[in-house]
Amino acid sequence: QAKSDGRNTVRFFDPSMQQSIQARTQMETELRHAIQKNEFILHYQPKVDIDGNILGYEALIRWQHPEKGLLLPGEFISYAEDSGLIIEIGTWVIHKACLQLAQWSTVEKTRHLTLAVNINEQQIARDDFVEIISQALEQTLCPPHRLQLEITESLLMKEMEQNIDKINQLKEKGVTFAIDDFGTGYSSLNYLKKLPIDWLKIDRSFVSDMLHDRHDEAIVKTILALSNTLHLTTIAEGVETPAQAEHLIELGCPILQGYLFSEPKPIEELDI
Ligand code: C2E
Ligand code: MG
Ligand code: MG
Ligand code: MG
Repeated sequence: QAKSDGRNTVRFFDPSMQQSIQARTQMETELRHAIQKNEFILHYQPKVDIDGNILGYEALIRWQHPEKGLLLPGEFISYAEDSGLIIEIGTWVIHKACLQLAQWSTVEKTRHLTLAVNINEQQIARDDFVEIISQALEQTLCPPHRLQLEITESLLMKEMEQNIDKINQLKEKGVTFAIDDFGTGYSSLNYLKKLPIDWLKIDRSFVSDMLHDRHDEAIVKTILALSNTLHLTTIAEGVETPAQAEHLIELGCPILQGYLFSEPKPIEELDI
């Protein structure tokens, strides 16, 4: 809103707005440096079956900031999206994840492990999305069927036909797809049925309240039933307590993920 300061001049920005613009510009510059200086790292959080066996991991990005310490995605991803740098960062994540999978595949003890990577909507929207993934797979000699891509419902609803086409091209190579944060978007059944996906991840918000709120419990049951009908595999995210895990297992959820089993950790700290 334009403000007059009483001297015939008009200020279009109030100081707090100006500050946030400065912060944004500063953050973009730092993100550019971070890419060049290789300041991003991946942490890994296990996905376990009902017997507690580790089936694989989800890769979650962190930024080892020279002054601010370890930053979580919530502190920088939105800046990366606004500036378009998410494309470069996302390509780095995919490459790094494929390298890790390739390395695991050379060792008997780890060759069964899968690795999930979160994909941003700007990434899948690009014409070269399939190519970027394919190249990472080929360059690293990564076994494609060990790579899972996690995408959100809202992302899929845009440009649905194109997205389905891209997903199918990658599925032909063996890559699998999960819908992340499921239940928080607006998927209709009809729409879900058309998607060539393999996994549904129940959003953390339902898991965290399911023992106290019967609506959340009902939603969890509904997602499990839906998964069954559509021949998808369900993963519960954000499992923090043994009581939640027991109840999810009772309801038939085959794969669990959350702090109860482990927080996301750097590769050296995984016990594999
Ligand atoms: P997400 O994919 O839904 O990942 C799950 C988030 O929940 C992670 O937060 C994880 O650390 C956290 N979490 C896991 N278990 C628990 C639990 O038991 N309790 C609680 N309270 N939280 C739990 P994180 O690592 O901060 O990531 C947040 C979001 O940032 C991710 O949500 C994903 O959407 C995005 N993200 C992370 N890494 C990447 C990436 O490499 N690329 C892109 N595009 N997005 C990423
Ligand atoms: Mg995810
Ligand atoms: Mg999620
Ligand atoms: Mg999320």
